[in-house]
Amino acid sequence: MNTDPILPGATVGILGSGQLGRMLALQARDMGYGVRVFSPEKDTPCGQIADTEIVADYRDTDAVRAFARTVSVATYEFENVPSETVSAIESVGVPVRPGAEVLYVAQNRLREKNFFRSLGIATPPFARIASAADVGPAIRVTGLPAVLKTAGAGYDGKGQRTVRTDREVQAAFAELGGVECILEGFIDFAWEGSVVAARGISGDFAHYGLVRNDHANHILDVTTAPAPESSPELVRDALDATRAITDTLGFVGLLGVEFFVTSQGTLIANEMAPRPHNSGHWTMNGAVTSQFEQQLRAVCGLPLGATQMPFPGSAIANLLGDLWDDGVPDFAGMLADFPDAKLYLYGKSEARPGRKMGHINVAAGSPHAALERVLAARDRLR
Ligand code: AMP
Repeated sequence: MNTDPILPGATVGILGSGQLGRMLALQARDMGYGVRVFSPEKDTPCGQIADTEIVADYRDTDAVRAFARTVSVATYEFENVPSETVSAIESVGVPVRPGAEVLYVAQNRLREKNFFRSLGIATPPFARIASAADVGPAIRVTGLPAVLKTAGAGYDGKGQRTVRTDREVQAAFAELGGVECILEGFIDFAWEGSVVAARGISGDFAHYGLVRNDHANHILDVTTAPAPESSPELVRDALDATRAITDTLGFVGLLGVEFFVTSQGTLIANEMAPRPHNSGHWTMNGAVTSQFEQQLRAVCGLPLGATQMPFPGSAIANLLGDLWDDGVPDFAGMLADFPDAKLYLYGKSEARPGRKMGHINVAAGSPHAALERVLAARDRLR
């Protein structure tokens, strides 16, 4: 593997054109890199920032190769990048970071959970369902209630159903299209947390600690950093698990790992994402180096940045399209009343319910103070 740093002035290629790509592109611009984005959509959050927005299908390998020839490194903002896209980029001698083996594991919930287990990381009990005949044996492994999820391509609760009876599992499996699924035992967790971490090209590791995530309708609502309820042992376990994942995969880039925390204070891994994570947006104002700068540094083979928090606590609240139901939210009023709040909007023209339109960050004297303040700032928009 070529470990030479890709220096400012070079061009970074991004697969996927949503808000995660946009915030990476803004950071790349800050540091003097060119940016090219590749996705099937036009006038996208990332395309508005990139030097060039290439609109083509991920499986159009001629278009992918043409894109790859104009960049020094490629990364992605979503994990369902087809493997032929990665191969096409690599075929012209351009590295894709994180690499193909990482995507192979992260793209399938069954492979992902088997991988966690191979490292001794606890997961919910789970079983594969590929046909109606698998339902009975799967329930014997997981018990009920359980959560049925498509094994591939799912996020923000899409492609999953909570199920309480044998019949509900059968119905949900049919509703999800009869595709390969994973049935997971329902975890009655005390709270949910995540670790965002980066591993550099020489194996250096940096992390943002363990944060607490609260969801609404299966979509992240708020994150509080550091997680107020965490103990030093819990943080150590979460970081050890994350480090084991990155080291075993020879990971280069940024990774988010989601955990359930039980009332006994133990960790159960839910999933991982080899890209910036919504629960890491607070780092844009709450850490010396944001997760997007860290991702850029890692994929370009630069040294990782410091992750200290200048303020003791930070929080992020998502702004979903629902906030636009009665017209444009009162941004000016919110900014007037909350001069410490940092507003981010992703440049999406259409506000649909459940669509992530932006977020607010607040850094404060404690995690609780940051959380209260960010919730009050968001309420002010209604
Ligand atoms: P996921 O798409 O796997 O991240 O799931 C989205 C959300 O659904 C999680 O953040 C949890 O709040 C909930 N969830 C997913 N899997 C389970 C489970 N096995 N037990 C309880 N809740 C779950």
